[in-house]
Amino acid sequence: MPTCRFCATHLQDIVADLGTSPLSNAYIPPDKAAAMEPFFPLVVWFCRECGLVQLEEFATPGEIFSQYDYFSSYSDSWLRHARDYARLMTSRYGIGQNSQVVEVASNDGYLLQYFIEQGVKALGIEPAANVADAARARGVPTETAFFGKATAEDLVRRGFAADLALGNNVLAHVPDINDFVAGFAALLKPTGIMTVEFPHLLNLVKGLQFDTIYHEHFSYLSLHTVQRIFRTHGLTVFDVQELPTHGGSLRVFACPEQAGRNMEKTGEALLQRERDAGLDTFAGFASFAGAVEELKYGFLEFLIRAKRTGKHVAAYGAAAKGNTLLNYAGVRRDLVSMVADRSPAKQGKFLPGSRIPVVSPEELLAARPDYVLILPWNLREEVMEQLAAVREWGGRFVTAVPRVEEWA
Ligand SMILES: [Zn+2]
Repeated sequence: MPTCRFCATHLQDIVADLGTSPLSNAYIPPDKAAAMEPFFPLVVWFCRECGLVQLEEFATPGEIFSQYDYFSSYSDSWLRHARDYARLMTSRYGIGQNSQVVEVASNDGYLLQYFIEQGVKALGIEPAANVADAARARGVPTETAFFGKATAEDLVRRGFAADLALGNNVLAHVPDINDFVAGFAALLKPTGIMTVEFPHLLNLVKGLQFDTIYHEHFSYLSLHTVQRIFRTHGLTVFDVQELPTHGGSLRVFACPEQAGRNMEKTGEALLQRERDAGLDTFAGFASFAGAVEELKYGFLEFLIRAKRTGKHVAAYGAAAKGNTLLNYAGVRRDLVSMVADRSPAKQGKFLPGSRIPVVSPEELLAARPDYVLILPWNLREEVMEQLAAVREWGGRFVTAVPRVEEWA
């Protein structure tokens, strides 16, 4: 029986079993098309003791992150989000030219560039070597490392103790969540603050966002579980913001316990909403698995009907979400001919598992599909704007989560 990655309790309750699928970021280059592809079980568990919803550990982070093709700078809405964050932290928390900012999992430097612009000292920590190279190339100081307590203590010894430490969309992606949070506690100055962002478990459950479940995403976090994990490592959660990113995320603010801050009212209200939804017990998850199965049947019905009536379905957005949906539903090229993506790093490759070819948006438009299935449903409006030309031949936009919907 697996054990909880935070509190080591034996896990007994399954939230969802999505079968087996390849690692969602393991895009296949043409020269590997004839090679075998490893599939891993994708099962989500609930911990009765601490409430952490999580995957069982199955592969080393080295396998997962050594070549990571997701360069966040390709999304306009992400860049806006990053710029707004930098402004908030400088105006509300006085982060300025004498401050040290450290971002964990800093990607290609898309966020830190907005601090550097204002003369703030910034350092990125990024585990994927090719992504860290891209950050340095744009002038963002970046170290190639996995973050944890040892890395943090080394940074402090070298003069990088942080006034602001942050990690966006990484807390949920670390296998050893205890070592990771201990790292933040070690990195912060006594007066320092930290923020982390992660997709909110409440939205996963309410919006049936099962496609945010994939192997690189180890933990599915609620505020009450994060608060408990942080407290264990001497960190106090003092505020929280709800964000629209990734279908509904939380930005949690925390500081060393000795700073003596208390939780703001907004945080208390959110904790109550989580209890109301039953997230602190298994009750909140009891109907999830059945609803996910229904979603799959509806999605397949749509694709088969399109196929039988001679309609051409192409997809947009070669990201983890889409791979979970396509592999869970067993979709292959006969039902979805291609997937377009703006990232040149993915074009010319094949989606893991489904082996659907990744093309440029121009190639998708040239194929004049009847339906464009938008896989990253959270970016629907942005994608519909980019691909407005689809309407010229009467093409329609479709999303599949939480159910198949067509958009004019
Ligand atoms: Zn636990």
